[in-house]
Amino acid sequence: MFDQFPEKINLANTPTPLVFLEKLSKKIGGPNIWLKRDDFTGSFLTGNKVRKLEYIVARALKEGASALITCGGIQSNHCRATALVCAQLGLEAHLVLRKENSLEIDGNYFLDNLAGANIHLYSPQEYFSNLENIFVEIKNTLKTQGKHSYSIPTGASDGVGIWGYVECVKELKADFELHGINPEYIVCATGSGGTQSGLSLGSHLLGVEAQTIGYAVCDDANYFNKKARKDIEQCNALYDLGVSVNTVTIKTIDDYIGPGYAKGYPELYTFIKEICRLEGIVLDPVYTGKAFYGLVNDINSGRYQGVKDIVFIHTGGVYGLFPFRNDFHFV
Ligand SMILES: *Cc1c(COP(=O)(O)O)cnc(C)c1O
Repeated sequence: MFDQFPEKINLANTPTPLVFLEKLSKKIGGPNIWLKRDDFTGSFLTGNKVRKLEYIVARALKEGASALITCGGIQSNHCRATALVCAQLGLEAHLVLRKENSLEIDGNYFLDNLAGANIHLYSPQEYFSNLENIFVEIKNTLKTQGKHSYSIPTGASDGVGIWGYVECVKELKADFELHGINPEYIVCATGSGGTQSGLSLGSHLLGVEAQTIGYAVCDDANYFNKKARKDIEQCNALYDLGVSVNTVTIKTIDDYIGPGYAKGYPELYTFIKEICRLEGIVLDPVYTGKAFYGLVNDINSGRYQGVKDIVFIHTGGVYGLFPFRNDFHFV
């Protein structure tokens, strides 16, 4: 079996369990639904980003970095994970955040502040038109202070961070053996693409038959199919893997984005509430809720007919739920 993983540092609480959602599977009467509990990768480091950071931060430390610069929305789970990892390792965190909706000190943004991250706020227009220059400016300022910094792209999705989810496939392979299953699909939420690309590449390298499907939460399927291929190509080149990238199958579904990134809809909130009450599983409206809603809806409308087992990756996101409290109407 493929075992040429690059160096990493241990940050995530892994391997995470794979659990069978018995009540939900029975209720929808379709394939068996399994949940990979990557919301258990840490209490404050919870979610998928810490898996990618294990590889990226190892590289940054090797280069002698004393500061990490990264970016995202105001409620970015990735920025929160980076802020906490920096605190843990004694690094300086610089977060370039998009001012969206409210600037309340809540959820992930609260934790960024609690962990002492340096916050750089920009309007969405400035952010999207000038992100590269903003990174360069911060890097240069740090340089004048004698600090070497390492820049991490959105969501830690690149040819290095991708290893986090290649490694997750290695865990899944052991999970499948333990439970005696051979799932047809591995499903995840796709926001910056690295989880999907890692799962796709991992299955290819490790001989797992399951097809990875990403449910997009922002950009369309065409964008993510290209983005996943780009991450895989970069990894292939950086680590000399000799993979013929065109033979890696990539699949994205973009039917459940709704009004846009981090914007929910009534059926979504109802679904999140129902899953919590049925299984005791907490999903968030930005990522896991949208993707899981999409999966269950697609099962109900027959997209997965004849399928026996599906694995959904619970990629975390719990702190992103709380700022949506007013969209849930409890009676
Ligand atoms: C970032 C994130 C995702 C999306 O993963 P990508 O690798 O960025 O596509 C899914 N779920 C949660 C909770 C996230 O924070």
